[in-house]
Amino acid sequence: MPTTDNALPPVLGFHARVGARGEPGPAPRRITAGEAVPFTGGTCSGRLLAGSGPAVPRTADGVTTLLAGELYHRDGLPAALGGIADDAELLLEIWLRYGRAGLRLCNGRFAAVVVEADSVVIATDHAGSVPLYVRREEGAVHVATEAKALAGGGVDLALPGTEPVPGTPGVLRVRAGSAVTLRPAGPIGAAEWTRTWTPPLHRLALPPARAVRRVADALDAAVRTRVRGPVTAVLSGGVDSGSVAALASRAGGRLTTVSLGTDAGDEFAAARVVAEHVGSDHREFRCGAEDLVRQLPWAVAAAEIVDAEVIEYLLPLVVLYRALPPGGRLLTGYGADIPLGGMHRGTAELASLDDVIAADMAGFDGLNELSPVLSTLAGQWTTHPFWDRDVLDLLTALEPGLKRRDGRDKWVLREAVRDLLPESTVRRPKLGVHEGSGTTGAWTRLLLAHGVRTSEVGAVKNAMTAAIHRRVVGAGEHPDAVSFDDVLAAVLATRAAPVIPAQVPPVWKAVVS
Ligand code: AMP
Ligand code: MG
Repeated sequence: MPTTDNALPPVLGFHARVGARGEPGPAPRRITAGEAVPFTGGTCSGRLLAGSGPAVPRTADGVTTLLAGELYHRDGLPAALGGIADDAELLLEIWLRYGRAGLRLCNGRFAAVVVEADSVVIATDHAGSVPLYVRREEGAVHVATEAKALAGGGVDLALPGTEPVPGTPGVLRVRAGSAVTLRPAGPIGAAEWTRTWTPPLHRLALPPARAVRRVADALDAAVRTRVRGPVTAVLSGGVDSGSVAALASRAGGRLTTVSLGTDAGDEFAAARVVAEHVGSDHREFRCGAEDLVRQLPWAVAAAEIVDAEVIEYLLPLVVLYRALPPGGRLLTGYGADIPLGGMHRGTAELASLDDVIAADMAGFDGLNELSPVLSTLAGQWTTHPFWDRDVLDLLTALEPGLKRRDGRDKWVLREAVRDLLPESTVRRPKLGVHEGSGTTGAWTRLLLAHGVRTSEVGAVKNAMTAAIHRRVVGAGEHPDAVSFDDVLAAVLATRAAPVIPAQVPPVWKAVVS
């Protein structure tokens, strides 16, 4: 699998403490792979989780910046910001010139900390695609890119621009598109929340041909800025990942494509059609569906959420990332369905389609579907062109008649990539990764085999996810130390016995006879 020195950003994640007299402190709990590099700079200290390149904070004029992840619009930033070593320094230059408002300029996949004088600003990208967590203690704040680093002790507290993390008292998640300003030594009431992005609510009525061209151009630009040497596209064979693979191939990077299947299902034939068309070096990975489901603790430890339905989408991808050799830059087709309404094929009226798109765009925050930890746990860096800020703004804003047209879903995207892909791929209906890989079915079958009633499957899946979350996030246990079967047994033991006895117990028999 191809790798280069810049396949990963310099910093994949961090744990920082901001307050008087900083010391790096003990290594934080985390499942991000790679070295944890200690640093101390003024009142800020902690560890940077190294990717490729030097993992260092950047400091000038009394301002220090930490940045996990990367920025995507270096070409578009003012020439005055030239001669920049890395994206932490770019953020520093933006800050020195524009202050906090400069965060509204940043199109990237990042979480950042900016320390200046007695205040600290903690910031997410537009989509919150690198989850960021905060906990306060007397005279200091702790900030980390994994909630488990901050768990254990603490009382619930409210902070503007944040949400509590279930099962971890005192730990708050910074909302998407947000910058929260705190004074570690000051009163909590002085915290301020600045929004740096919100999903567009207006809609653009464009001539269809123009809309198609704009989508083609925006997606092409998003893929190009993400191709930095050899890349791998995770390929289902659908139109979303197919588009990304085709554009990556056109952008000139050496392209590998990878597909995951199980003994319960695969989309290998559809993926091969794309791979042959775009000329990628294509690999297939197959594993047992039950083995895949038993890796559930890894998916929960990475996503740090308790919603089993979302975990079902993420689990096959985590399994795929774990199967790949480390050090790769992975492009996915994840997330195209949200602004385009691809999950709502049954919604006939355009007004309803637009309403569900608006609701989905208002509700993605906190699902952590784009978290880099899903792949950095295996030393991979993922990036998602469909959730590039410019692509997402455009796709969301297009009027729904461009998304549903001529009886087709995701019409504008399918037309935009018509020349790049085989006709069968352009027309292919959506199949979720959890369906194509048989993940949902395999987990359900395991539960049914343990006597769980069909009507209870959803509740048991959620209870298992929450139980695993308590262990791998709340208590910081290693995912390999948490057995799927033990968790299932424990969950079933705490529920009212759902199994109806097949025969009359012996003691009753004695009474009856
Ligand atoms: P989906 O749920 O089908 O929208 O999947 C989201 C993204 O995950 C796709 O765009 C692909 O990049 C990736 N993906 C889905 N299924 C597979 C698979 N079987 N093998 C590899 N990548 C996949
Ligand atoms: Mg799919």
